[in-house]
Amino acid sequence: MNPTSAPAQIIRAIDVIRKKRDGGELSRYEIDSLVNAYTAGDIPDYQVSAWLMAVVLRGMTRPETAALTDAMLHSGDVLDFSSISARKVDKHSTGGVGDKTSLVLAPLAAAAGVAVPMISGRGLGHTGGTLDKLEAIPGFNVNLPVAQFRRILETCGCAMIGQTAEIAPADRKLYALRDVTGTVESPYLICASIMSKKLAEGIDALVLDVKTGSGAFMKTEDDAAFLAELMVETGERMGKEVVALITDMDQPLGSMIGNALEVVEVVEVLRGEGPEDLRQLCLELAGWMLHLGGVSATVEDGKRQSEKLISSGKALDKFRQMVELQGGDPRAIDDPKKLPQAQHTMTISSPRGGYLASLKCEQIGTACVVLGGGRERKEDSVDPAVGIVLHKKIGDAVSIGELLATIHYNSEARAQRVGELLEASYQIADSPVEKRPLIHRIIGHT
Ligand code: URA
Repeated sequence: MNPTSAPAQIIRAIDVIRKKRDGGELSRYEIDSLVNAYTAGDIPDYQVSAWLMAVVLRGMTRPETAALTDAMLHSGDVLDFSSISARKVDKHSTGGVGDKTSLVLAPLAAAAGVAVPMISGRGLGHTGGTLDKLEAIPGFNVNLPVAQFRRILETCGCAMIGQTAEIAPADRKLYALRDVTGTVESPYLICASIMSKKLAEGIDALVLDVKTGSGAFMKTEDDAAFLAELMVETGERMGKEVVALITDMDQPLGSMIGNALEVVEVVEVLRGEGPEDLRQLCLELAGWMLHLGGVSATVEDGKRQSEKLISSGKALDKFRQMVELQGGDPRAIDDPKKLPQAQHTMTISSPRGGYLASLKCEQIGTACVVLGGGRERKEDSVDPAVGIVLHKKIGDAVSIGELLATIHYNSEARAQRVGELLEASYQIADSPVEKRPLIHRIIGHT
């Protein structure tokens, strides 16, 4: 285990694991060595899993977090899109349930004249992933080489891919390992994972959507604010304009959870329809993207421009164009029946009347994984067709027997388990319940 550009000194993985386990501070050299050796396949998953768990339990100092981000960023190429005159802006979410905003925002901001080179991840733990959602569109290719990514970005103004061997390959390996080893929930690891990908994209500015609530990795607003500050600081250290919106994930975003179902909801929003919370969050994030992208004087003006791009159909046209350029079937955008469909549906009804007081949001995300919509093991493939449609949001009145959710499934046994999980996720109160705000706080860019 030895990085090429560092002094000749042998670092053993076991020593790095022990040092972190005992609460020590790792040097930049030790972190570089570990990340480089893992990316090269020179140390096994089980040692890196142990190290990741030590980080989850012991945390990292700011210099360690900076060193980890830099090591992951430089595990691959840093793209240079300076030949594209438009400002390059991306947005990234820390992960939630039903969070499909990236699929709306990339074409929406591109339609406004901002360039959006978006590098995303797959589902992680109970949360969904942008790449899995895009792959629900028949033919859509998220594994494009950088040259093609650049061509599509130049032609269309947006392109959405996963990490390649060239871009933050360390994150690609670590992300998949964290997903299955209970090592996602660390602000330091999340910061390094997100920022290494984003800083490799050659962007000028970044809008971060940091989720908080029962379906987020950061359950409390203070933890979410800590992560947001860490990421804003990391981005600014690298000379980028960064803003972080702390947004609510105490219930799934929108109504649909599951890869193909979420594409349906994306198209609804791009048509000016769709659930109010999803529309509102998309417009807020788009407002920021347009503002940081230099095409609107204020965030409010960016929101107004975005609304017009939706009502004129230009944002949806842009989505269709990107889908086609990335090998997807654009007919699936206009006809949801061309998206993968589950064979069966099953409904969950309310056992009593009252008001929907809370939803166990993480449990709902897990229910989608159990259906096959996410991964339990690294090598699992996902079933794009399965998922859950929620018919009520927190604060809504419900009567006895009224529909709460519909499960789209392909396996009877899995659907039974998910039915139980969902029934246990709902809490119905007798009296009206106050709705939580969607946007809790804005950090950075003051
Ligand atoms: N999204 C990422 O890209 N990485 C994480 O660690 C969490 C969410």
